[in-house]
Amino acid sequence: MKKHNFSAGPCILPQEVLKKAANAVSNFNDLDLSLIEISHRSKDFVEVMEKAKNLVKELLNLPEGYSVLFLQGGASMQFLMTSYNLLKENGKAAYLDTGTWSAKALKEAKLFGEVEIVGSSKEKGYTFIPKNYAVSLGTDYLHVTSNNTIYGTQIKEFPKTDTLLVCDMSSDIFSRQLDFSQFDLIYAGAQKNMGPAGATLVIVKDEILGKTGRNIPSMLDYQVHISKGSMFNTPPVFAVYVSMLTLEWLQKNGGITEIEKKNEAKAALLYAEIDNNPEFIGYAEKEDRSLMNVTFNLVDKNKSEEFDSLLNIAGINGLKGHRSVGGYRASMYNALPIESIQVLIDVMRKLK
Ligand SMILES: *Cc1c(COP(=O)(O)O)cnc(C)c1O
Repeated sequence: MKKHNFSAGPCILPQEVLKKAANAVSNFNDLDLSLIEISHRSKDFVEVMEKAKNLVKELLNLPEGYSVLFLQGGASMQFLMTSYNLLKENGKAAYLDTGTWSAKALKEAKLFGEVEIVGSSKEKGYTFIPKNYAVSLGTDYLHVTSNNTIYGTQIKEFPKTDTLLVCDMSSDIFSRQLDFSQFDLIYAGAQKNMGPAGATLVIVKDEILGKTGRNIPSMLDYQVHISKGSMFNTPPVFAVYVSMLTLEWLQKNGGITEIEKKNEAKAALLYAEIDNNPEFIGYAEKEDRSLMNVTFNLVDKNKSEEFDSLLNIAGINGLKGHRSVGGYRASMYNALPIESIQVLIDVMRKLK
């Protein structure tokens, strides 16, 4: 039986993408060679890289002046690369602290300069997104996390700021329509909504780079990677290829406009059940609820064994909440069909 995969990451990918990826591993482009055993400088792979980068630009409707990179080291590497490349010597950065990932990002930034936490929901278990905060003058950039994967909150409206806006979009990129030109730098680990682990997408406005006065090691320098077309060293070929396939799938299915409608419908269905079913209670504040990661708890924790067993029987995978929050988390990334949500809701209704 096919599982209903609510995994938070690495996450569900479209079935047709997995099939194509499997084929390419044995015989890529009818070359009688595997995708993972040919040169990354071969014509066939260079085309993959170009196509992946162009799909990112098209899907996000990015204006001229942005570069797209596929790097390694995960989103976690971007926690330090962003500060290394943007935080001036003796400079200051502002961070919005909305969860574990933001906290990890600002910890790295402290290695490079002063960090101001402009807002935090830590005291309340990261159940909401702080609003109406101010960023002081002379700040080099403001860093926000668009979707808090662990707590199930999401920024609906991004701050208007005079400084650079940097966003960790790991768990909701390509899930909803935004004006992406409001960001100066976006990064996202591939494994949440785009592909397998191993590649990290970085989108950066060229004009903001090279202004810190620091000497940056080549591998951590965006300008080096840009000058080499994201091929400064061997790129993660498999992860880039599968990301390209997922983006093709997204484009073929109407792009972000269409997927956003589906994601909204999926979230509406599940949140309505959480709010109407007396056995369950939502974790995040309603106005900040994420469309991607839905966090909730049983009202009576003694029923968890029964609920877990019902989930198992229904073939539901990955619903366990993050270890720091407990309870349940339904991650509903782009490739998760609405049918899986219906199956989850049926199980929730069986609980008495
Ligand atoms: C998963 C996640 C990360 C960490 O990603 P890695 O690729 O494992 O380093 C960072 N930020 C957010 C929002 C995430 O969901």
